[in-house]
Amino acid sequence: MTTPFQNALKQLKNTAEFISLNQKTLKTLSEPTRILKASISIQMDDGSFKSFPAYRVQYNNARGPYKGGIRFHPQTDLEEVKALAFWMTIKTAVVDLPLGGGKGGITINPKELSENELEKLSRAWVKAFSSFIGPQKDIPAPDVYTNPKIMAWMTDEYSKIIGRKDLGSFTGKPLDFGGSLGRDTATAMGGFFVLEDLLKQNNLPKEKQKIIIQGFGNAGQTMAKILTAHNYRIYGLADSSGAIVSDHLINIHELVKHKEKSGSVVNFPSTTNVKTDDFLEYSCDILILAALEDQIKATNAPRIKAKIIFELANGPVTPEADKILFTNKQQVIPDVLANSGGVIVSYFEWLQNQENSYWSENSVNQKLKKQILNSFHDVQREADKHQTDLRTAAFIIALKRLQKALKII
Ligand code: NAD
Repeated sequence: MTTPFQNALKQLKNTAEFISLNQKTLKTLSEPTRILKASISIQMDDGSFKSFPAYRVQYNNARGPYKGGIRFHPQTDLEEVKALAFWMTIKTAVVDLPLGGGKGGITINPKELSENELEKLSRAWVKAFSSFIGPQKDIPAPDVYTNPKIMAWMTDEYSKIIGRKDLGSFTGKPLDFGGSLGRDTATAMGGFFVLEDLLKQNNLPKEKQKIIIQGFGNAGQTMAKILTAHNYRIYGLADSSGAIVSDHLINIHELVKHKEKSGSVVNFPSTTNVKTDDFLEYSCDILILAALEDQIKATNAPRIKAKIIFELANGPVTPEADKILFTNKQQVIPDVLANSGGVIVSYFEWLQNQENSYWSENSVNQKLKKQILNSFHDVQREADKHQTDLRTAAFIIALKRLQKALKII
């Protein structure tokens, strides 16, 4: 089995050969600049002490400060964090932000912690890495199973350590604590702008698209809500505990209530529970991946029915699966573009913190739309020019920009 980082390197090498990337850029981008590891210990509510592996990978800062989320997940390990940090480096370059790429994580199941333990763990992560982060150095944000409240604890801890309040040190913060309007919906909103534009370009009526979504957290659930508000039709959803499908439109607002009560999407009235693997292969027009890496691989790619595979998650389609889907004329909208709304609005949040002046939600969304659609159209033009898939085209744009920055330093 290949690791997410091996998959990321395959993507890098594929594109490097395609555009004869220079050796310096290829070598530099084949390894992170810095890997930070710590074992962080906290006292649990029962008085015992527990230690958890913690990471920050600073992949590359040629174009600006390192930027990327922190993941709390039981399967998080260094290979995963390295891959996610690499993809952040590519993503910030694809959408032309003056930022680099990084990522962090803790190997932990946060669902097993009390709020008090979660706060201690979040603050301990900052204590472990505080001298390496900061608004001009490395700016973390939320990722899987981390959220605005955790970002507030982390910003507060960082501010205490440096002896002054520094709201620009983390993004994805709560609104009353230096957050930006539109940041909580940004990943999905950016994805929505791209998807809507793609359907318009191809004259595909939205009411006729059968959509299913894997992942019902910040990215997936928000996407489901935005799509529903714009009269798109969702027929299946999955989360970590299972998946549901239906012949009829699923009422997302009722499903949110059901998940809040029961903790999962399964057993929702008028839908059928299905296995996660079967879910991905369910007959639909658009499959939105908004959970974890490695969901579509060489083994299941030939059975995927969707004509459009939309990567709101990072790394859900492996390089081998990419080839199969491209041959079968199924279009993959790649993560480094499709979910870049999150980092675009994180950048806006950081700018607002620096200026200490805040923008309206409409202004954030208009700026997001302009930036993500300009990048999408650049990627489409590059794909046409080289007759490639959109991922390769996005990598070409990013690697050329990174190569230029690396030439200077
Ligand atoms: P989240 O913690 O809010 O939600 C994760 C969701 O995935 C949950 O609904 C969980 O139940 C589900 N899930 C986990 N394992 C699953 C499995 N095996 N099968 C089906 N569902 C599963 O996290 P999020 O912020 O929504 O992140 C989801 C993906 O989007 C990740 O790949 C993340 O890196 C990416 N992403 C998020 C942001 C952001 O701003 N939140 C930005 C860019 C990319």
